Amino acid sequence: MLDGLNPQQREAVIHHGAPLLIVAGAGSGKTRVLTHRIAYLLAERDARPSEILAITFTNKAAREMKERVDKLVGPRSAAMWVMTFHSACVRILRREAKRLGFPSGFSIYDQADSQRLMAMVCREMDLDPKRYPPRSFSAQVSNLKNELIDYESAADRAGSHLEKTLAEAYRAYQRRLTEAGAMDFDDLIMLTVNLFQAFPDVAEHYRRRFRHVMVDEYQDTNHAQYTLVRELVGHTAVTTADGEVVREGDDRSELCVVGDADQSIYAFRGATIRNIMEFERDYPDARTIMLEQNYRSTQNILTAANAVISRNESRKPKNLWSDQGAGPKIVGYVADNEHDEAMFVAQEVDKLADDEGVAPGQVAVFYRTNAASRVFEEIFIRTGLPYKVVGGVRFYERKEVRDLLAYLRVLANPGDVVSLRRIINVPKRGIGDRAEAMVEAFASRERISFWEGLLRAEEAPGLATRSLNAIKEFTALLTELQEKAEGVPPAALAEDVLVSTGYRAELENSEDPQDESRLENLDELIAVAAEFEEADPEGTLVQFLEQVSLVADADQIPGGGAGVVPPGERAPESASGGVVTLMTLHTAKGLEFPVVFLTGLEDGVFPHSRSLGEPKELEEERRLAYVGITRAQQRLYLTRAAVRSSWGAPSFNPASRFVAEVPRDLIDWRTDPEKSAWSAATTRREPAARSRDTGGRPVASYAPGDRVTHDKFGLGTVVSVDGMAEKAKVKVDFGASGEKTLMAAYAPMEKL
Ligand code: ATP
Ligand code: MG
Repeated sequence: MLDGLNPQQREAVIHHGAPLLIVAGAGSGKTRVLTHRIAYLLAERDARPSEILAITFTNKAAREMKERVDKLVGPRSAAMWVMTFHSACVRILRREAKRLGFPSGFSIYDQADSQRLMAMVCREMDLDPKRYPPRSFSAQVSNLKNELIDYESAADRAGSHLEKTLAEAYRAYQRRLTEAGAMDFDDLIMLTVNLFQAFPDVAEHYRRRFRHVMVDEYQDTNHAQYTLVRELVGHTAVTTADGEVVREGDDRSELCVVGDADQSIYAFRGATIRNIMEFERDYPDARTIMLEQNYRSTQNILTAANAVISRNESRKPKNLWSDQGAGPKIVGYVADNEHDEAMFVAQEVDKLADDEGVAPGQVAVFYRTNAASRVFEEIFIRTGLPYKVVGGVRFYERKEVRDLLAYLRVLANPGDVVSLRRIINVPKRGIGDRAEAMVEAFASRERISFWEGLLRAEEAPGLATRSLNAIKEFTALLTELQEKAEGVPPAALAEDVLVSTGYRAELENSEDPQDESRLENLDELIAVAAEFEEADPEGTLVQFLEQVSLVADADQIPGGGAGVVPPGERAPESASGGVVTLMTLHTAKGLEFPVVFLTGLEDGVFPHSRSLGEPKELEEERRLAYVGITRAQQRLYLTRAAVRSSWGAPSFNPASRFVAEVPRDLIDWRTDPEKSAWSAATTRREPAARSRDTGGRPVASYAPGDRVTHDKFGLGTVVSVDGMAEKAKVKVDFGASGEKTLMAAYAPMEKL
């Protein structure tokens, strides 16, 4: 159990009693300590698996941790709770929801749902969306919740008119959520804290149960999560004003948290390194252990990472070292444009495979924003390089997928007003906006839910007979489905919904080619439900929806995802082993890869334009760079594009300052490191590359059937061409984005 650990790590694993904080740089074995500690607790200290709660950052990390503990102690580990904050809270809330006035089948609103609800609230309040943008209200309410500020406190502390309006919207939003029997993501944490604080017996129950609490990536917990941990562990010590411990916390659970302040990258979501800084103050008897040896990366990579992060002013200096030798130099590459950058990555991966037998599965490509994956995907498809996109898959945001989920959610919880109103006239059944508004007015006058309003629609004044009949048919249909929902498993129920509502027939009878892909997506969702049933034959509709809503938001919240693999993430493995992983820097946390490409290293891209001139945000971007660099085990590539087109307009970003912060002699430049847009234009390597960015290009000639890629609409197929050369108009079918007619000479489009 203690093999393969250095003395500090061993000390951390066997540490007993007082809270333990492990602060250490990337790759120093923090996560490994947690895994070994769990195994040690089970094997040597007679802990029962059910007494263990380990919070990880992603579900992937949770699965890996469980597997590793499995290897060390066998299948007993099944009863442990190894999961994200959100998943753990959902489990607790399902059991205790009634105490908070929620049904145990409460809905979970993801970011899109909660934004819709906030938009409804703002409309009801007659707020001008230009002055009071609902999205911004949504984000601010989220921040308040992360700080555990409820709407009453928000109202109390509101000074300006804007703050008062916000507090008012917060209150109305919360009321609507409660009426709908729904919680948003931030509620999951905040309501669990409220639950513990309002019901000491509940808190006591979980404290007794979880004798050992562990948290990985502790630097990214926000205030609400921090408080949750404190509540779970039990009373902290009581101290006098000058810090003397008067009374030790009695009967506390054992707490072990690990983190690295240099890797705090979620400040924008209310995560705060204050938690690390103040740990010692809040737990005065805490032990702190530092780890200094990095086992992940070569010295060159580590030196680069240290050089970059040392530019941050607000940090404690660290001394991270590796005994793996210098390793190959870091490779630098300045591409002419973003296509050239992706092409370089693809060619380099091929070369590594040929020359050194590196499998695609050992390679990761990181970028700053989700949208950047598109060009890599297109080039990888073109060159036949197998890949998967982690985290950026927006399958669950597609309209038809959300529609079907909305039906299922209404069946599980008819109070779910956002879902109900989404599908009330989908497919069209003659319930117009006016009828909907009348029912709403009626329901709010009668103080009943919208669903009850529909059920009693004949009492609503002014409704046309046609609308009334349509509403009656709709409620009859839903009531019938609700009865079925009791006994039918999710996949069959979903199919039933599609058939009985006419949704499937409408798509099947359509001439629109897009509707075919819509049908595929719906079938894919049913396949996800079938997979869920296979994994858990007892699984209920509510549990299925819960898994889906957690996974659907996996890329929006740290640690989302609950075990269902989003369909888009399945990729065929190549014969030579695995596929290249494409992901944003934020999702890369905690992972490691033999070969890493850090792309888009341009000021304005990474660091992100919004951080330029904002010293605090710039420091956060630099921590993100540190996270990216320290994922690499053996080889690191730093790339950028001299010209990048954003929405068709070229931008000429200077090199990222982070590259300049890496000592020059560590980098082997494959191009002129100072290459600019101007020199790129004259040293273009690929004469075929279209120079729409620099003007004066030849106009590509298109023919029906040609595959094209458009900066905004993505991949498409040419349907027809009208006119010649500069005057040519091309009609292209972009699948989900629809059919567009474009001017060949001006559209940011390329032939594949
Ligand atoms: P991060 O900050 O990126 O999350 P970490 O501190 O959690 O990193 P780990 O992922 O636990 O680091 O460890 C990094 C790598 O080093 C892993 O491959 C791990 O197995 C290995 N490792 C850690 N400690 C040792 C050790 N004592 N001997 C050999 N390998 C080790
Ligand atoms: Mg880790």
